[in-house]
Parts: sequence; structure tokens; C-alpha cells
Amino acid sequence: MPELQTLNCGNCGAPLEIPTSVNYVTCRFCHSQLHVQRTESVVFTEVIQSLQQETSRLSEATEVLKLKHSLLELEQNWEQKLHSLAVQGKPAFIQRPNRNLAILLGILITIAGIFLFAFGVLVNPFFILAALLGTPLVISLIVREFQNRNELAEDAVHFQQRRQELLDKIAQRERTGCISCD
Ligand SMILES: [Zn+2]
Repeated sequence: MPELQTLNCGNCGAPLEIPTSVNYVTCRFCHSQLHVQRTESVVFTEVIQSLQQETSRLSEATEVLKLKHSLLELEQNWEQKLHSLAVQGKPAFIQRPNRNLAILLGILITIAGIFLFAFGVLVNPFFILAALLGTPLVISLIVREFQNRNELAEDAVHFQQRRQELLDKIAQRERTGCISCD
């Protein structure tokens, strides 16, 4: 039987029976890793790492990893979206469309439609059909193009904001190593 000595855990204070030959021990109450310090006059345990410290360090690292994963996912999704919108290798056009220009274009098309309709009444009924079908079609195409570009421009802003948020959070956590900051 090895000789046992009773020492208190340096973290939680619980009494631990430790063989005199052992220098490192884990507290069976709080699971801290302890170093048994033996000087000529005193013997005591020193906390190397408490479970709490270790756990919070790990959960912090996990949190940073999760954030980095979210960032990667966000960037990949955005790349994918841009890629899917690219036409023959040309990157998607991201700029908020000009509302006034779209309205002006709509008015011009309507006027052209009215002329086409009048021309149809006076000359050839075929143009009446062309005016009645063509005008709404062209206008709806303009409206859709406007909406698509507007949506894409908004998505781009949202992507940048979300990306910056994540970058800030990662930087903050890596700088302070703080556990509960949001
Ligand atoms: Zn302990």
C-alpha cells in the first residue's frame, strides 16, 4: 500500500487522499487538474487548470469556430447566388436601379403603344393586336427587371452587413476571449 496523505484541493477545497509518490492529480469533486507542491515544510495542491476554465475556454473556441463557419457559409451562399446570376461569365450587375428612369421608360412605352394602337385603327388591325399584347408585356418585363435588380441590390447590402457583423463578433471574441459578450 502506498502511503497516503490528505491534501485539500486547491480549487474547491475538498479533502483528497493522495499517495505521497504522486505529483499530479485530478480532483474527484471539481475535476480540476492539480499539481502537488512539496516543499520542506508544507505540502499543498496548486490548480493547473480547473474544469470550469477548461470548459469555458473550449466553449469559447467552439463559439468562434461556429461564427467562422457561419461566415464561410454566408460567403459561399453569396458567391453561389452571384454565380447563378452571371450571364455567360459576366458577373451580375449589382446597382440599385433608377426608379425615375424605369417610370419614364414605362411612360414612353405606353405612349408608343397608344400610337401603335391608333396606327392599327387607321391602317392595319394587326397593329391593334400588337399594341394590346405588346405594351403590357414590355412594361411587365421592365417592372420585373426593376424588381430583380432592386432585390439583388438589397441582398448585397444585407450580405455586407451580416458579413461585417460576423467579422466583428469573431474579432471581438478573439481579442478579449470573453465568454458571454454578444
Ligand atoms: Zn476540487
